[in-house]
Amino acid sequence: MATLAHTARYRFQSHLGALCVLVCLLAWAMGAHAEWHSAREGIMGTEINVTLWHPSAEEAQAAIDDVMGEMRRIDQLLSPYKQDSELSKVNAQAAQAPQQLSAEMALLVDKSLFVSRVSDGAFDITFASLGSYYNYREGQKPSDAQREEAMPAINYRWLDFDKSRGLLSYRHDKVRIDLGGIAKGYAVDRAIILLKARGIEHASVSAGGDSRLLGDRRGRPWIIGIKHPRPHSGDEASVIKLPLSDVALSTSGDYERYFIDEHGERIHHIINPRTGRSASEVMSVSVIGRDGLDTDPLSTTVFVLGVERGLALINQLPGFDAVIIDREGKVHYSEGLAPSN
Ligand code: ADP
Ligand code: MG
Repeated sequence: MATLAHTARYRFQSHLGALCVLVCLLAWAMGAHAEWHSAREGIMGTEINVTLWHPSAEEAQAAIDDVMGEMRRIDQLLSPYKQDSELSKVNAQAAQAPQQLSAEMALLVDKSLFVSRVSDGAFDITFASLGSYYNYREGQKPSDAQREEAMPAINYRWLDFDKSRGLLSYRHDKVRIDLGGIAKGYAVDRAIILLKARGIEHASVSAGGDSRLLGDRRGRPWIIGIKHPRPHSGDEASVIKLPLSDVALSTSGDYERYFIDEHGERIHHIINPRTGRSASEVMSVSVIGRDGLDTDPLSTTVFVLGVERGLALINQLPGFDAVIIDREGKVHYSEGLAPSN
């Protein structure tokens, strides 16, 4: 009897133990869930998304505020729509006299010129000499006269950049620059630096099509979707899902900012500097690499270059991969992503 009673008590205790474990597990799972924090805001003419893991809700919020504040700061520095941005001031004066750039703007101009050189001018921040006549929301494009006047000014070789002193001047008086093809990639890099400084180890930050991942999703990769460029009803929002961690991924698509003109042509925000018109070889390009400062201009570049020349460039640069969706919807991968046979 004693043994039986003992056994019953033991059973009861072990059930109680199991229950405790279950309750603890549940609490942990709910707690773990609560430690993911997300925020979304419209800045730099796009949507900023932040997701991060932090056990303290207050500190998570402070980290999110940091990121959003940084995005606003970068917008204030580089916006072509703000008269008092550094970019606008440089554009207003660099054809008259060399302008002293901030260290940040010098970094972006230097990287832009590097990408111009490796792409034989497919990426060219002087596209803005003509690009400023486009307004996608209003359905406006340059007139033939405006195009004729601006085209000679599109050439990165007009930029006289003294890297060691951070001085920039324009050798043609119609030159204007725009850093829209590189600023968001830089911004997500900056966001990750700020999050790391707060000891955060798992985060994802995106500014429109430019994302950067810090660590993984606590034991699992982040799943990043590449959008369907022409979704029909019933189609999934993303065509390709990539499991990634600790990388930057930038997507350039002709569906982001566009209008259809009177000839039925899609007029969008990625401009071929050679023609002064929207690049039309592909519908979407995603580039994966370590930093947004590289992947952002490279996705724009590969978009302009098209499948063949774009993949040749990516395959020749160490540490980068690309996924291209061509005009027919066919998907092309760089060597690092191609299924091995
Ligand atoms: P998003 O701005 O949607 O992230 P992209 O990264 O592809 O898209 O960059 C497109 C932006 O790059 C345009 O809005 C414009 O500011 C700029 N841009 C367009 N064409 C070029 C080009 N050929 N070279 C450099 N920058 C460009
Ligand atoms: Mg880009």
